[in-house]
Parts: sequence; structure tokens; C-alpha cells
Amino acid sequence: MSVPATMRAARLHRVRSATEPELVTVDEVPVPAPGPGEVLVAIKACGVCASDLHVVQGVTPHGPVLPQVLGHEPAGVVAAVGDGVDGWMAGDRVAFQMARPCGRCAYCDVGREALCRDLSVPGVDADGAQAEYAIADPRFLTPLPSTIPFEQAAILTDAVATPYHALKRGGVGEGVVVAIFGLGGLGMHAVQLAKLAGADVVGVDLDPVNLERALDWGADEVVDASDGKPARRIKELTGGGVDRSFEFVGSNATVDQALKCLKPGGRATIVGLTPQPMQLMPEALFVASELELVGSFGSTAADLNELIDLVDAGRLDLSRSVTHRTDIEGFPDALRQLESRDEHPIRIVVTYE
Ligand SMILES: [Zn+2]
Ligand SMILES: [Zn+2]
Repeated sequence: MSVPATMRAARLHRVRSATEPELVTVDEVPVPAPGPGEVLVAIKACGVCASDLHVVQGVTPHGPVLPQVLGHEPAGVVAAVGDGVDGWMAGDRVAFQMARPCGRCAYCDVGREALCRDLSVPGVDADGAQAEYAIADPRFLTPLPSTIPFEQAAILTDAVATPYHALKRGGVGEGVVVAIFGLGGLGMHAVQLAKLAGADVVGVDLDPVNLERALDWGADEVVDASDGKPARRIKELTGGGVDRSFEFVGSNATVDQALKCLKPGGRATIVGLTPQPMQLMPEALFVASELELVGSFGSTAADLNELIDLVDAGRLDLSRSVTHRTDIEGFPDALRQLESRDEHPIRIVVTYE
């Protein structure tokens, strides 16, 4: 595979501020060369994600290094390998996690890479993969069976793996009753994965189109949260509350409702991010009901491998997940569409020739 000298890449030049909008452009830049122990991947598809919005809005914990290539949900084909890389060769189909844990700390040792103190996430705090080529760490490459289209592999790495990880943190299974708050890309996949695990699912959202779609994707019930008190309705529907709730919105109001809709002994798992301090129910109620509140962040290499097996085996159908596609020149518009929710995208993917 011959690698050109330059490529198209979607880059952030300026984060949004009170006085100026962000500046994202598609630029002609040098193709990065794989260093020792690195792999160069020709990107075939890369998802557009709410985390990209957080980067351009300047609300990530570690700011971007400008100008920075965005994108952290890639899949593609190995184009070249650096010195000392074994087991990979040009032409291999791959999916990969952009997150780069250190691989040496106590958390990495037990497979909880998301907690690594030295975690770097290219696309968020370094050059990412919304480009014709990107550098990958071979430790986080996963072989991609030919049965899985690149655009589905791209969304697996975050949009599907993040809710999958959360469902494992929360604990779902046959007959477990769950409520899922926020039926965007992550929440819709949570509905699908919870049903696959045998759970009874209540979907919660403000948007009637999203509620209708959740029913279509297998949710047993949906609750319109526009009165601000969906927990009350969930308790009526379930005869006293759910076993597990999952919050994909990242707001105080939904975290509060995700706790309040639990039955005694229930567990709420929070995935959405907000810088606001938590404001919760009366403490005595939390204690007397023996509730549990856990956070879930990102996913692991093991999650991605398990999901690839599920899709390859035909058990997880992602054919409806990518609702909008564009080429890289359309990336700035795709970001705007994600923010406005125009046409209710589940997932927008940039595809490459
Ligand atoms: Zn993402
Ligand atoms: Zn580590």
C-alpha cells in the first residue's frame, strides 16, 4: 500500500469561548509517520461524537493541543508498521480504541484501563483519527472480521462500547428491570444491549421522536420526561421502581431522577458528564433504601473484543445505528448537526474512500 505525503484532516484551531465561536477546518497536512512500536492506519470510517463537541467547546479536563486533529472512533486498514511491531501487516482490517492507557499501573493490570492515571485520548488531548490516516498503538488494535462494515466498527469503539461497559458496571441480565435516561446514540445502544441481555427496559427522554424510536428498537415502555418527574411515572409503570437505572444525559436533573426511580436496593449508573456538583435526594432516603450510585467511564479493550464477537456472530445488529454519513469535507457541518440534533441522528459517521 503506497502512502501519500499529505492527507485531509479535520482540525480544531480554536475552542469556543464567550466571545468567539470555535474554528474547525479540513486541512491538507502531512501524513504522520509511524514511529517505533506504532502502526499507521488508513482510516475508512470515523464516528462523530458528543465528545468531539466537548473538545471544541473547551470543556474537557485536559485541553486540546492546537491545532489538533479531532476524532476518536476510527476503523480502517493497516497502511504501514513502525520498527519493532509484530503481528500486524499492511492490509489488515482493524478497529481500535483511541484511549491510550499506560499498560503498567495497578488499574491497567486488572483491566480497568479507563482509570489509568496516565490515560491519553488522541482526538481529545492529542492528534486523533478524523483524517485519512492516523497513528495507532498496536496494543489497542483489534482485528476486524470482514463481516463487520467499517462504519459499524467505528461506532463500536465508543458509541456502543461505552454503554456496554456501563451495563456491565450496573449489572443487567435476564428479568432485571432497567430504566435508560437519554435516548441519543449511547442510550439507544444501551436499550439494544440491555434487551440482548434479557432485561425489561423503560426508555426515558424528552423527545417524542426518540421515544418512538426506542420502542422500535425493543424498549418495553417509554416515559416522556418533559414534566421533569419521570421517576414517578416509572414507579407506576413498574410497580415500585426499577432494579437498575442508567444516565446518559449528564445533568443534575436526570441523575436525580435516575436515583429516584430505583426500588430499594437498586443501583444507578451515571455515564453522562457535567461539571455541576451533584445534588441528590435526602441522604437518609438513600441510606434507608440501600441504594447504590456508580460512575462508568469509557470502555476497555476487553469490551471492544466482546462486542466485535457479538456483531460477528450476528447477535448484535448495528445496521440501523449509522443514520447519517458524510465525507471529511462535511465534518464541520456534521458537528453542527450533532449539536442541533437536526434530523435526530443516532450516529453520524465520516467515511473515507
Ligand atoms: Zn466518542
Ligand atoms: Zn495505567
